[in-house]
Amino acid sequence: MQRYDVVIVGGGHAGGQAAIALRQGGYAGSIALLSADPEAPYERPPLSKDYLAGDKTFDRLLLRAETFWAEREITLLLEREVVAVDPEAHAVTLGDGERLGYGKLIWAAGGSPRRLSCAGHDLAGVHAVRTRADVDRMIAELPDVERVVVIGGGYIGLEAAAVLTKLGKPVVLLEALDRVLARVAGEPLSRFYEAEHRAHGVDLRLGARVDCLEGEGGRVTGVRLAGGEVVSAQMVIVGIGIAPSVGPLLAAGAEGGNGVAVDGLCRTSLADVFAIGDCALHANRYADGATIRLESVQNANDQASVAAAQIRGASPTPYDAVPWFWSNQYDLKLQTVGLSIGHDETVVRGDPGARSFSVIYLRQGRVVALDCVNAVKDYVQGRKLVADGARIAPVDLADTAIPLKEMGALAL
Ligand SMILES: Cc1cc2nc3c(=O)[nH]c(=O)nc-3n(C[C@H](O)[C@H](O)[C@H](O)COP(=O)(O)OP(=O)(O)OC[C@H]3O[C@@H](n4cnc5c(N)ncnc54)[C@H](O)[C@@H]3O)c2cc1C
Repeated sequence: MQRYDVVIVGGGHAGGQAAIALRQGGYAGSIALLSADPEAPYERPPLSKDYLAGDKTFDRLLLRAETFWAEREITLLLEREVVAVDPEAHAVTLGDGERLGYGKLIWAAGGSPRRLSCAGHDLAGVHAVRTRADVDRMIAELPDVERVVVIGGGYIGLEAAAVLTKLGKPVVLLEALDRVLARVAGEPLSRFYEAEHRAHGVDLRLGARVDCLEGEGGRVTGVRLAGGEVVSAQMVIVGIGIAPSVGPLLAAGAEGGNGVAVDGLCRTSLADVFAIGDCALHANRYADGATIRLESVQNANDQASVAAAQIRGASPTPYDAVPWFWSNQYDLKLQTVGLSIGHDETVVRGDPGARSFSVIYLRQGRVVALDCVNAVKDYVQGRKLVADGARIAPVDLADTAIPLKEMGALAL
C-alpha cells in the first residue's frame, strides 16, 4: 500500500490551499492531493460570473499553474474518489479499490449541489453550477435556448441570472421564499437586488413553488408551478444549496451531521484527521459561537492555513478569521464582512437609489456584519467594527458624513 505523510481529500480551494500552505511553510513530507474532479485545483466563484459570461478562460481560474504541483512534489491524483476511511489503519480506499495510507488526513471534500426531488429533475437541460463541466455544458447548450428558468434566489442563482440576462437570454427566476437572499442577508439588501434584477428584465417571482419539470424526448421544456402555470424553458438552472460531502468520514465514525464537526484547530473527532472548507462544521465566534458551515473562499483558505500549520508543527493558532464574501451582479460589486446570522437590527448607510450603500447588521447593539454594495470604503473600514464587535449608535452608523474608520471614537 502506497503511503503519504499527508493525504488531502478534495482538490478544491481548501484542499489546494492546504497543500500550498504546507509547502510554503517548509513542510518536507510527502503529500498526495486527491480529487474527484478531472481538473487541478481551481476557483469556483467565477463559474457563475466571468467564466459563464465568457470573460475568463479556464486557465485563469486555476489556483496555480499546471506545473506547480509537480514542482513542489505534491502528487496530484485526479478523478480519484475516496469512498471509505479506515481511521485505525490510517488508510483511505478509492473507488477502484486501491488503498492509500496516511500519516495525517485532511478532508476537504466540499459539497455537492442539492437536486430537486420533483418529477423531471434529471431531464437534459437541467443544470447545477458547481463544476467547470456544469458550466461548459450550459455554455454549449445556450445557442439553442430561448428562455432560462433559474430556481433559487441565492447568490449563485442571482449571479447566473445576471450573466444570462447580459447575454441576451430572457430569464425567469423562481424563489420559494418571500424574498431573495433570505438565508444570508437582511431585507433591505434582498429588496435592492430584487429591484435591480427586475430593472434588467428578469421575471423574478417570489413565493414560487415548483411542482415538477416537464420535458419532451428527455429534454426539459418547462417548469410547472404549484398553481398549474407552466413556464416554458429550454434550460433550468438549479441553485438551491449544497449538501456537504462527508459520507465516508461519518461512516468511519467522525462526529458530525450536516458536515464534519471540527474543533478550533480544524481537528475532527478521529485521530490525525482534519476537515476544512465547505464541509467543516465549526463553532464560529462571528456567529455568536453557533456551529455552522461557511461556504466561502475566505473560510476555505483560512481553515487550510490552520490545519497546515499544525501538521507542520507550528504553534497552534485556532481558527478565528473574520468572515468575508463577495458577489458580482451586473455592475454591482457586493462585499460582505462578518455574519449577519441572528441580527436584530439593520441600518442602511447611503442611498440604495444611488446604487452605492451599505447595510449594517447589529446584534444586541453590536456591529456583526456589513453588506457593502459598490461601497469599498465601508467594506474596508467596517471590518474593524465587526472584529471588535463595536457598539455604535445606529444614527451614527447611518451618517455618511462620518467615515466608518472614525466610528471607534463614537463607541458607546
Ligand atoms: C458558482 C459558485 C460561485 C461561488 N461564488 C463565491 C464567491 O463569490 N465568493 C466566495 O467567497 N465563495 C464563493 N463560492 C463558494 C466557494 O467557491 C467555496 O466555498 C469553495 O470552493 C469551497 O472550497 P472547498 O475546497 O471546501 O470545496 P470545493 O471547492 O467543493 O472542493 C471540493 C473538492 O473535493 C472533491 N471531492 C469531493 N468528494 C470527494 C471524494 N470522496 N474523494 C475525492 N475528492 C472528492 C471535489 O471533486 C472537489 O474537487 C462559490 C461557489 C460556487 C459553486
